[in-house]
Amino acid sequence: MVEAARRVVFLTGAGISTESSIPDFRSAGGLYSDPGHANIFEIEAFLADPAPFYRFAGSFLELLDRAAPNRGHQAIARLQQTREVVVITQNVDGLHERAGSRRVHGVHGDFTRSVCLRCGASVPTAELRSVIASGRVPFHGCGGLFKPAVTFFGETLPRQAWEKAAAALKAADLLIIVGSSLVVYPAAGLPDLRPRGCGLVIVNREPTPRDGEADLVVRAGAGATLEMFL
Ligand code: NAD
Repeated sequence: MVEAARRVVFLTGAGISTESSIPDFRSAGGLYSDPGHANIFEIEAFLADPAPFYRFAGSFLELLDRAAPNRGHQAIARLQQTREVVVITQNVDGLHERAGSRRVHGVHGDFTRSVCLRCGASVPTAELRSVIASGRVPFHGCGGLFKPAVTFFGETLPRQAWEKAAAALKAADLLIIVGSSLVVYPAAGLPDLRPRGCGLVIVNREPTPRDGEADLVVRAGAGATLEMFL
């Protein structure tokens, strides 16, 4: 299918990065298995009291620092050297870019930058690390609260990335979904934009709501599967 396709689009989720030791949300051992994380990415909860989020963010930043792209990210980047491939990702870890992928559209934003909610100033999240690590909530000089540039539940998605993702999907002849439970909307609705005749492959350890419409479902680890086929 990959060989026959002219324009391949990947839609990746947190599952492609679990092999880089970044937990996903919904697997056993994922972030949601800790009841304290249930509303960690809810915008209302964050604005009401950002302290619980920043307690979590300290350890999440450490995980991101230590994480390296795995063979799944690398296989996609390798394929991009010889074929027209676009990567749409729900992840905020930057690992596709670090594996060398280009044309990566992050529809849930980017954890590596933070934005002041009062004046809009944008800084590398790494600059806030010492404040976050000391258990404090980071504020900008203007007095505004910093928030990582990721989309929280209850917020709209970054418009430019979404439009680029939609355009790529409308022109795709093969869509390969990797490591996503496909339950987080609107991202989970993106596959509906693929044209009629576009092949659909799903690589995920657990069943997803779209398995029935796929041409091929590979229920196995992303790294080994992508390395084997790409
Ligand atoms: P999810 O947690 O809802 O689902 C992940 C899916 O991946 C599960 O169905 C699981 O069975 C599967 N999976 C886990 N490890 C796998 C592996 N090695 N190979 C194949 N499949 C594997 O994640 P989601 O669908 O991406 O949606 C949740 C949201 O979580 C996203 O919006 C994303 O922004 C956010 N998130 C991102 C990161 C990250 O950037 N790495 C980490 C956690 C959560």
